[in-house]
Amino acid sequence: MQRVYMDHSATTPVASEVIEAMLPYFSEKYGNPSSVHSFGREAKVALEEARGQVAALIGANPEEITFTSGGTEADNLAIFGAAAAYTKKGRHLITTAIEHHAVLESFEYLEKNGYELTILPVDAEGIISLAELEKALRPDTILISVMHANNEVGSIQPIAEIGALAKERGIWFHVDAVQSLGKLPIAVQEMHVDLLTVSGHKIYGPKGIGALYARKGVRLDARAFGGGQEKKRRSGTENLPGIVGFGKACELAGAHLAAEAQRLQKLRDQLLQGIIDRIPYVKINGPVGDQRLPNNVNVSIQYVEGESLLLSLDMVGIAASSGSACTSGSLDPSHVLLAMGLPHEIAHGSLRFSLGTQNSAEEVDYVLDHLPQIVERLRVMSPLYDAVKQQSTAK
Ligand SMILES: *Cc1c(COP(=O)(O)O)cnc(C)c1O
Repeated sequence: MQRVYMDHSATTPVASEVIEAMLPYFSEKYGNPSSVHSFGREAKVALEEARGQVAALIGANPEEITFTSGGTEADNLAIFGAAAAYTKKGRHLITTAIEHHAVLESFEYLEKNGYELTILPVDAEGIISLAELEKALRPDTILISVMHANNEVGSIQPIAEIGALAKERGIWFHVDAVQSLGKLPIAVQEMHVDLLTVSGHKIYGPKGIGALYARKGVRLDARAFGGGQEKKRRSGTENLPGIVGFGKACELAGAHLAAEAQRLQKLRDQLLQGIIDRIPYVKINGPVGDQRLPNNVNVSIQYVEGESLLLSLDMVGIAASSGSACTSGSLDPSHVLLAMGLPHEIAHGSLRFSLGTQNSAEEVDYVLDHLPQIVERLRVMSPLYDAVKQQSTAK
């Protein structure tokens, strides 16, 4: 059976060049970067080279990069680290209703522990309003956190405009860029971003490695204490194979960014249009065009359950998602779709395809060949759909 992987927002396969770059750091190059001997120095050189590769992809200086165990830890370090360091200035924090749980739950914890939190709403396409943000700013606001691109619906936020506002008011600005890295250009200077989260396994690097960019001058309290690695922000012997792989993945992503984004966008539009043309009662979730990630398709297929769709797709070898990998498995509808104003029953029928390097136009056709039949078969069992059909034939 053909297998088609279209869940790249959950994770990606590791690129062969990345594996190759990592392998020596499991075998002959096993030194600890903190050691003074030649083994250690060799490891240290690799560590700093990778730091440079990550920094280059986002327009940062290498010394502004702290390696972490992934996007989740980088989000936590940014939020808890900055909140703790700036309590003298204030205790007011701002984020959005559609953030990844690594951001939302960190803020909710702080809210229970003496901080005040404003959660900005989004419009029907999943984008915040700059006017609402401006209204929410206070003299005691210390941190704004807004993701670059949403992992479920692909909506892209006006990061440079938010950054300019934050800078003008002297408020630190954190951006979760896990989904946009390698797909959209990122320039922390031009975008006035002070803290930025990235992760390896969403860009064809290994799992368990990520980084936080922190602009020079931003204070962050440590979240892990010990040997003082990573400028004392994140103690613990560095995950060198992971770091080297992440560096390589960043280098590759940078080299292919523009061409790959264009290719993915074509596939995305082929898939979106194909679904609209072939299946009735479908709603596109998220923006269309330039305000959407080039690899994201998210639709609500009415009168079917997202979970049933996923299982049926899986039986013909197609891997998709009903939202984010973290919330699937629970029956709660996506907090992102609810924040966009979708009613529960429509949020439940949502389906996300996230495209990646190995996907082709033929694979998109394979999905378009199978999905309409699956939907039709599931809808036959839906009493709601039956009623709708009778109504439309009666007209
Ligand atoms: C995947 C993801 C994360 C978490 O990254 P991990 O490296 O898996 O911990 C954070 N934010 C967003 C937007 C993500 O998509």
